[in-house]
Amino acid sequence: MAIRQVIRIDNEEEKKILKSKSVRVRQFDKGLQTLVQDMIDTMREHNGVGLAAPQIGVLRRVVVVEQPAIEEEQPDGTMVETEPAKLFVMVNPEIIEASEERCSMLEGCLSLPGWYGEIARPNWVTIKYQDLNGREQRIKKADACGYRVGRMVQHEIDHLDGVLFTERIEDLSTLRNYNEEKPKRPSLLRRRKRKLPIEE
Ligand code: ZN
Repeated sequence: MAIRQVIRIDNEEEKKILKSKSVRVRQFDKGLQTLVQDMIDTMREHNGVGLAAPQIGVLRRVVVVEQPAIEEEQPDGTMVETEPAKLFVMVNPEIIEASEERCSMLEGCLSLPGWYGEIARPNWVTIKYQDLNGREQRIKKADACGYRVGRMVQHEIDHLDGVLFTERIEDLSTLRNYNEEKPKRPSLLRRRKRKLPIEE
């Protein structure tokens, strides 16, 4: 297990790396497995829902996304998990189809902790990627409204192309620092109940 340093948009040198385009992965070897494990450990350490390899300074087309569990509040106020959290590891991911309709939500990024802005993206996307063994996989019409894989993968693929979430915000007055409003190490559940955004 290795937690890697997440590089930042607000550091000039690190931003140059984040603005670079990542290269396709061609070798599905032990080195790739180690990179992916480090990315998962780093994403979880920071309570994130997604991480792209360039965010740890590796310009290769690899992303990890952890779709949070869905919990529903019962009439007695208790929370019941109706769908478990799901981890996705995607190598060379691509959006091959996207809806015309878009939905807006607050997005954050582990490379600019605390800051969130309103971004509109397609309602659903069809994703093509390779798994750790190099086998092609598809997720058809993945939901992209809310913290769902279809949403988060769009943010992560942007990282692979050197596009930052701040460049996707149409109304920059929506970009705000929520640091003071957030508890130090909130659990996903508490964040959801507080309706606070999470970082990718
Ligand atoms: Zn990000």
